[in-house]
Amino acid sequence: MRIPIEQAKDQLRELGRVRIWSGQWGKYWKKQYSGYTSDRHQAGIYFATDAYEHTKHVGPEKEIYLEPVNALDEMYDYLQDAQILLDNVYEEYDGCFCDDNGPSCVKCVRRKRILDMFETLGMKPNKE
Ligand SMILES: [Zn+2]
Repeated sequence: MRIPIEQAKDQLRELGRVRIWSGQWGKYWKKQYSGYTSDRHQAGIYFATDAYEHTKHVGPEKEIYLEPVNALDEMYDYLQDAQILLDNVYEEYDGCFCDDNGPSCVKCVRRKRILDMFETLGMKPNKE
């Protein structure tokens, strides 16, 4: 849901955090108000009040919109991505030839760290 800046300006506090969409470029503003990106994950996330302050001077031809960020949905997306990433690296460090003296090789040490990360996130590798 994208709200035209003119319409958003009366509900900035309620909007909370937002991404800034440029209709002119069909892209998001990046972090620190510098440049544009098509990738949502590279987009800056701003308080709507700040976003408004930084965009109110631009002309209507820029077609500025504010896109509210739902923190829970965002976090869920990130966790899905994290699961995929961790599964990939976990597999990458598979197949060591350590003896029984304990985990000493790079692969074992990394796998242990990855398992710790899974645990921290309350997740498990898809493949053991
Ligand atoms: Zn090993």
